[in-house]
Amino acid sequence: MNDSLNQIKQQITELRSLLEDYNYQYYVEDNPSVPDAEYDRVMKELISLEQAHPEFQSPDSPSQKVGGEALSVFEQVEHRVPMLSLDNVFSDDELKAFEQRIFDRLKNSQPLEFSCEPKLDGLAISILYRDGKLVQAATRGDGRVGENVTDNIKTIRSIPLKLRGDNYPAELEVRGEVFMPKAGFEKLNVYQKENGGKVFANPRNAAAGSLRQLDSKITAARPLAFYAYSTGYFSPGADIAGSHFARMMQLKGWGLPVCPVIKKVTGSDELAEYYNWIGEQRNNLAYEIDGVVYKVDSIELQETLGFVARAPRWATAHKFPAQEEITKLLDVEFQVGRTGAITPVARLQPVSVGGVTVSNATLHNADEIARLQIKIGDTVIIRRAGDVIPQVVSVVEEKRCDAELKDIVFPTECPVCGSHVERIEDEAVTRCSGGLICGAQLKESIKHFASRKALDVDGLGNKLVEAFVDLNLIKTPADLFTLSAEQIAKMERMGPKSAENLVNSLQKSKQTTLAKFLYSLGIREVGEATANNLALYFKTLDAVQNATYEQLIEVNDVGKVVAEHIVSFFSEAHNQAVIQALLDAGIHWPEIKAVSEDELPLKDKTFVLTGTLSTMGRNDAKAHLQTLGAKVSGSVSAKTHYLVAGESAGSKLSKAQDLGVEILNEDDLTALLTEHGAI
Ligand code: NAD
Repeated sequence: MNDSLNQIKQQITELRSLLEDYNYQYYVEDNPSVPDAEYDRVMKELISLEQAHPEFQSPDSPSQKVGGEALSVFEQVEHRVPMLSLDNVFSDDELKAFEQRIFDRLKNSQPLEFSCEPKLDGLAISILYRDGKLVQAATRGDGRVGENVTDNIKTIRSIPLKLRGDNYPAELEVRGEVFMPKAGFEKLNVYQKENGGKVFANPRNAAAGSLRQLDSKITAARPLAFYAYSTGYFSPGADIAGSHFARMMQLKGWGLPVCPVIKKVTGSDELAEYYNWIGEQRNNLAYEIDGVVYKVDSIELQETLGFVARAPRWATAHKFPAQEEITKLLDVEFQVGRTGAITPVARLQPVSVGGVTVSNATLHNADEIARLQIKIGDTVIIRRAGDVIPQVVSVVEEKRCDAELKDIVFPTECPVCGSHVERIEDEAVTRCSGGLICGAQLKESIKHFASRKALDVDGLGNKLVEAFVDLNLIKTPADLFTLSAEQIAKMERMGPKSAENLVNSLQKSKQTTLAKFLYSLGIREVGEATANNLALYFKTLDAVQNATYEQLIEVNDVGKVVAEHIVSFFSEAHNQAVIQALLDAGIHWPEIKAVSEDELPLKDKTFVLTGTLSTMGRNDAKAHLQTLGAKVSGSVSAKTHYLVAGESAGSKLSKAQDLGVEILNEDDLTALLTEHGAI
């Protein structure tokens, strides 16, 4: 072998060994050491080298294998029909090529029917039903042999222990994905962090780690869910559909959960349409997906097309752009927020994540820095999903070079005003003690005070607020009302006209509501809905200011912590002085009339909220409805009067439609709340 061939062989060996390490971390430890995008890049490099040099091809190569080996602590289960992986496409061109390969094999280019489904980000499971009873469940393992996780699978509530009806095959192997819905994943990680447990990198690893437990009580406590997406073995001669889509509907009829957004389409253009449609829904779905899966719908054609080493030829995954990438932590800066909270912000070597360049990410607080064991100079995995601020997920320890590392030192003084910082026991947050003498807190408080949901001062942009504070023109929100048109006109990018407009809108903002005024004060944890509840309950500012802790916790949506924040806010002389100055400046609101509970407009009405609302959070909507006397329930029943359906409403909407419950959209809700003065 000549030198260059030797080098290629060496390179192939190195890539294989790297991928084997990554596989071990991912499949066995449920704790990936690099992002999927990095893994996929290394795999692509290996495949292209193997294709260019078939002489080095080997059945042992990670490019030819499925998943990881089954752990021997579990009983092993041999799959009667192998459980394979999926090939990927990343672009419309690759999608067309996938369709073309099928045409070539079938020697026919008639448009084909496909079943389209979201690619759920969990782990594949095989569940065997014998005479309708769940008798065995196994992980995919290496595709041939998996781990027996029957007891654990039985703890997942959406998986039936017994099938419905009676026309199911005597033996039926159902395949599908066990996954952890986003909300459950977040809650689990908060719990794990608080209790010093393992924090999972993503819902996929959390699902796998939760299912592959020796103690099924642990699995039972984890929020796992399941959707069926195919069948494996079934008794010969069973009455089972010859179309994948119809088969999924059969499974649904037998009581198995099937993803509601599964759809049958024809031809690759409709595949691309489906991909775009699901892409738009992605952030609103209750579970994580990393793409969509297209499957030739005819089972007969699936059988004709067959398999390659690790994946079927009749299906492919169309993956979304990666949400996680690898980059370097260049530095950490500390930002001070409205309530003085000091947030460490990672300055990163810019990297493109899903088409957007990311150069900053939040590190949350000192505990998070300690948990990540992160240092300046580290190689890190960052994640940018939807509109959420990019996060640092973990450190890639293999890429650490000790000589280049620097510790992250949390400041003991506020980086903006120099006041000392304090950290209250049991609180993760470190705060600047400067209050409104801290420029950063003052700027953020004034921005909040003038924001749309507070006093709604038109024409007072963030930059202008910052400039007023920097020039010492305002020291409290009340000082805004002392600014003259001449002073404002001298500011950068302002002229006499815009200055006059701002003076007018400040004047206009003085006419407000008690709820908005309370919200504008920026009391910790008092959001729009809480402010609303306080106003409706106490009716006057005096009553809120003088309310005792015991009175406050009687208010809808006010818990112990919020009550303490409210009492402590009003007990501060400097806050009282600001309130007085604001009232002296002429801020006023209409009196709130006393209404007895019996007179509340939505008394005795039960609402259910579902889907995403674009103008308010579901919690706010709930609180607004409650202030009008409505009951807000979590599930739809014959007793429900109204279902409020936001974007991507799912099963609750269909149930409400079946029961003939009146459906309100977001505009109807807003109109209802406005009509009764709740917003
Ligand atoms: P895959 O996750 O790309 O696709 C196959 C799997 O998709 C199936 O086994 C099934 O579990 C799942 N799936 C979800 N919805 C489905 C549906 N509707 N129909 C059919 N299947 C559905 O393949 P894989 O072999 O499980 O994993 C390979 C991928 O895992 C890699 O591309 C990489 O992104 C990632 N990985 C990452 C690391 C790492 O270190 N970060 C290591 C190993 C693998």
